[in-house]
Amino acid sequence: HHPGDSSREDQFIVNAPNVVYTDSTIKSSYIYHTTKVTRGSAGTLEAVPVETEFDFKVERKIPKVGLMLVGWGGNNGSTVTAGILANRKGLSWATREGVQSANYYGSVIMGSTVKLGSDAVTGDDVNVPFHKLLPMIHPNDFVLGGWDISGLNLADAMDRAKVLEPTLKILVRKEMEQMKPLPSIYYPDFIASNQGDRADNVLEGTTACREHLEKIRNDIRDFKQRNELDKVIVLWTANTERYADIITGVNDTAENILASIQNGHPEISPSSVFAVACILENVPFINGSPQNTFVPGVISLAEQHKSYIGGDDFKSGQTKMKSALVDFLISAGIKLTSIASYNHLGNNDGKNLAEHKQFRSKEISKSNVVDDMVAANHILYDEGEHPDHTVVIKYMPAVGDHKRALDEYYGELFLGGRQIISIFNVCEDSLLAAPLIIDLALVTEVMTRITWKNKSDEEFKNFHPVLSILSFMLKAPLTPPGTPVVNALAKQRNALCNIFRACVGLQPESDMTLEHKLF
Ligand code: NAD
Repeated sequence: HHPGDSSREDQFIVNAPNVVYTDSTIKSSYIYHTTKVTRGSAGTLEAVPVETEFDFKVERKIPKVGLMLVGWGGNNGSTVTAGILANRKGLSWATREGVQSANYYGSVIMGSTVKLGSDAVTGDDVNVPFHKLLPMIHPNDFVLGGWDISGLNLADAMDRAKVLEPTLKILVRKEMEQMKPLPSIYYPDFIASNQGDRADNVLEGTTACREHLEKIRNDIRDFKQRNELDKVIVLWTANTERYADIITGVNDTAENILASIQNGHPEISPSSVFAVACILENVPFINGSPQNTFVPGVISLAEQHKSYIGGDDFKSGQTKMKSALVDFLISAGIKLTSIASYNHLGNNDGKNLAEHKQFRSKEISKSNVVDDMVAANHILYDEGEHPDHTVVIKYMPAVGDHKRALDEYYGELFLGGRQIISIFNVCEDSLLAAPLIIDLALVTEVMTRITWKNKSDEEFKNFHPVLSILSFMLKAPLTPPGTPVVNALAKQRNALCNIFRACVGLQPESDMTLEHKLF
């Protein structure tokens, strides 16, 4: 029983003929309701309800999982490590405001609840922790490891990050001193030149090569074996790289990218080498930064190997607000006409983003986040019409990790009225990102234990290797090639929640509450 864990009352079983529990699995058959729309010649729409039957199967045994971070010694890496240790040990520490205890606030899986149903007697909502919907690993049990081009041990890295209270740091310091990132691959052309002075823990060679790929693969195998793990998940929380050019014959197909790594092509980024290493090891790889790690060749390779990938770019502060607020404005029928987003930050991420090519990666991932919401409303927006949207990021060392995000939303109301919403959001960057790392790892892990199929098919299959279910945690969600991207925060959460519910044979919570409405 973990500290901070909720009571046994939150455990539930589903009592229904379509759900079967065995010692090792939960099996459910599930009817998925959708609506198919056809367009008649006169522009009329015809909607036809469709039912599809699926079978889901969830492995119940909770595995022992290693979480390896690329960029382990960075602000996020050191913060999430200290946070997991603090929770594992059930620590409390003195602060200016009083005694603070370890928690998992900011994690949708560990810190939020979902409505299971209505109380059979009182009719009130019964809510359970998200974490209890499916059998999931507890984050306290992750075995942590990883790589960094900076050789500082995690205790010193935590000091460098300037995120946590000294009173907490004292309590985790001893253990974190023992944690030392593995040497990593460093291709200076991909991250800002101002990062050069911390790169003292690097493998020889400055372009991709077979040795690098093999070394990373070996590091993963070795970590798994030494810690007696059932599985490993790798997550990129290293610096934002510049975009890689997509070049025919180089990184456009699975074969070509493998060959280009062998040949040391200069357009292969470190993050793509990590992704390829993970795919070849059949280890899930998640990208928390904005660059295009998942060039077409990497995606094809993941498909070939049925190995899970997810990305891109943690959705922590400004964009999370944006994907909630814009969803609200446009779905309320208010015509948003411009968004101006300014950021300044003083951590190493900000320093790296001070160079143009790295900023450009961030600008791209921050720019498309309202497209789906705008496109969905043809009353407010003509075809191709889009609100003005600008994103500015400036490096301001003094503010450290306390990133400022200033946003102006300008919109049009009834009969030409105008609305200006101005937001000043001070987000402690790494304290927002650390729980997202946990969520990404937790959800990815459970996805490796779920298989499903069309009722009529014989064999259970995996989800598509591109895990779009992670979208809630990501700014620029990667989806299976050719499928739509959903940025709206509420929809993303519903997808996550309702897929979990389907796995235990429960329909989506419709929020109709008809049981309370009949006169
Ligand atoms: P950071 O600069 O403190 O940490 C990054 C670490 O990666 C550094 O320790 C660096 O030495 C290391 N690194 C760089 N290249 C590497 C390589 N090739 N291999 C191994 N290690 C390498 O940054 P951070 O604040 O921890 O953020 C990490 C990433 O997450 C950034 O790309 C950032 O844009 C992204 N991100 C952060 C947030 C957030 O913190 N709220 C939100 C969205 C995205």
